[in-house]
Amino acid sequence: MRVIIAGSGLSGLVMGHCLLRAGIDDFVILERRPDPVERSGSVIGFFAQTFRILDQLDLLHDVQKLAPHLHRWTHLDPSGRTISDGGFYDFLEINHGHPSMLFMRRDLMEVLYSKLPGRERHIFPNKKIVDVKQDDSSVTVTCADGSVFNGDVLVGCDGVHSAVRGLTFEASEDPKTRPPRAEYRGLFGSSPRPDGIPANNVTETHGKGIAFMILCTEDTAFWLITTRKEEGASDSQKSSAEDIKALVGKYKDHSVAPGAKVTWGDLWQTRTTTPCPGMYDYHESVAERWYSGRVVIVGDAAHRMTPNLGQGGNSSIESVASLMNHLHALVEEKPNPSTAELEEAFASYQEERQAQVKFIAGLTGSYTRWATWRNWLGWFMQSWMWPLLGDRFIVNWFLSPMIKDSIKLDFVEEKNLPAGKVLWKYH
Ligand SMILES: Cc1cc2nc3c(=O)[nH]c(=O)nc-3n(C[C@H](O)[C@H](O)[C@H](O)COP(=O)(O)OP(=O)(O)OC[C@H]3O[C@@H](n4cnc5c(N)ncnc54)[C@H](O)[C@@H]3O)c2cc1C
Repeated sequence: MRVIIAGSGLSGLVMGHCLLRAGIDDFVILERRPDPVERSGSVIGFFAQTFRILDQLDLLHDVQKLAPHLHRWTHLDPSGRTISDGGFYDFLEINHGHPSMLFMRRDLMEVLYSKLPGRERHIFPNKKIVDVKQDDSSVTVTCADGSVFNGDVLVGCDGVHSAVRGLTFEASEDPKTRPPRAEYRGLFGSSPRPDGIPANNVTETHGKGIAFMILCTEDTAFWLITTRKEEGASDSQKSSAEDIKALVGKYKDHSVAPGAKVTWGDLWQTRTTTPCPGMYDYHESVAERWYSGRVVIVGDAAHRMTPNLGQGGNSSIESVASLMNHLHALVEEKPNPSTAELEEAFASYQEERQAQVKFIAGLTGSYTRWATWRNWLGWFMQSWMWPLLGDRFIVNWFLSPMIKDSIKLDFVEEKNLPAGKVLWKYH
C-alpha cells in the first residue's frame, strides 16, 4: 500500500512514524514549506496520553529530554491578586504517571523529523498540494510545481486551512455548513523569564476580554495573549502589525504576574525575535465528514480548537493513533483494500474520535470564554467556581476521566508506562 501524507507538521510526522511501526514503508509526506521542519511557532504542551504514544514510537526519551516537568497553574486577577494556585499539572502526573511538559515547538519538530528513519526518501518539501483526484483504484495529488503523486490513500495532515479537506469535501458542501468565522485570536511569542514569574509553571492573568497566559521554563517566558476579535475584524489567518501594535498599546500596563510585579509591557519590551511574535485567529470547528473514498483527514484538518487548554496537538496525535489502528487492522487482513473497505476503516476511525474531539473542542472553547471573562458567567466560573472546586477536583473529575480513555496504538508495545493512581482504559 502506498500512502500520501499532506503536510509534515505534528500529525504528518507522527503519522510517518506510525506507518513505519505498522510495516508500511511505502509513503511520501508532501510539505508546502521549503523546510520540512517547522521552525516557527512558539510553545506546545504535552500530556500523559501523548507520551504513551511517543513511547510506542520510541521517541519518549528524546522528547522528554527537551524540557522539565510542569507543576502549577496560577490564576490571577487584573490587580495581580491570586485567584487560585494549585498543583494542576502535579495532580495530572500523580493520576497518570507521565508528566505534563512544555516544549519549544521547533525543538520538538526537529526530534520528530530527525528520528524518522529514511526521512530524505519520505519527505518532499516545496510540494504545495493544489489538486486531488481519485477513482476506484487510486488517488492522485498535484502540487503547485506541477509534480504529480499517485497512491492508494491520501491522509490530509495539512492543518487548520487544510487543502485536502477543501478540495475533497468542501467544494460540494452547502456553504451554510462551512466553519464559522473565528471569534477569538491570540498573540504569541516569548521573552526571557523575569524574576517575578515562577519557572516551570503556568501563570494566567484574567481580565475583561483578555487573558495573559505565561508559560515559563527556567529561562523563557512564553506568552499567549487571548483576546476577542472586534466586530467586523477581517477573517484573515494572521493579524497585521497594526493589530498587534493596537493590542500591545491597549494592555501595556496590565499586570501579568503575582503581586503585579511584571506588566505585559515589560514582557513585550524584552520579546525575542525567534520565534517571532505573531497573532493568529483561533478557529473552532469539528468537520462533519472526515473521509471520502480514499481520502481521510486527521489532526487540525479534522478538528480545530482554541489553544487555551493545550489540547489541539494532543488530540491530533491521538487521532493519528486511532486512524492508524483501523488502517493497520485492515491492511493486516487485506494488503490491497478496496475503496469500500478503506471507507469502512475510515468510518470506524471517525466514529471513535469525532464525539470525543467535539467534547474536547467544546471544553477548550468554553475555557477560552471563561478565561477572558466574556460575561458574568465566565467571570464567575473563573474567579469563583475554579478556586472553590480546586485544581485537584477539576483534574480528578473533568480531565482525568477524559485522559484515562485515551487511545494508543494497539499494534505496538508500550515499554515505559509509569504507575499512576488512575487506571487506563487501554493498557
Ligand atoms: C499558540 C498556539 C499554542 C498551542 N499550544 C498547544 C499546546 O500546548 N498543546 C497542544 O496539544 N496543542 C497546542 N496547539 C495546537 C497545535 O499546535 C495543533 O493542534 C497542531 O499543530 C496540529 O498539528 P497538524 O499537524 O494537524 O497541523 P499543523 O501543525 O498546522 O501542520 C500542517 C502542515 O501542513 C502543511 N500544509 C498546509 N497546507 C498544505 C498544502 N496545501 N500542501 C502541503 N502541505 C501543506 C503546513 O505547512 C504544515 O506543515 C497550539 C496552537 C497554537 C496556535
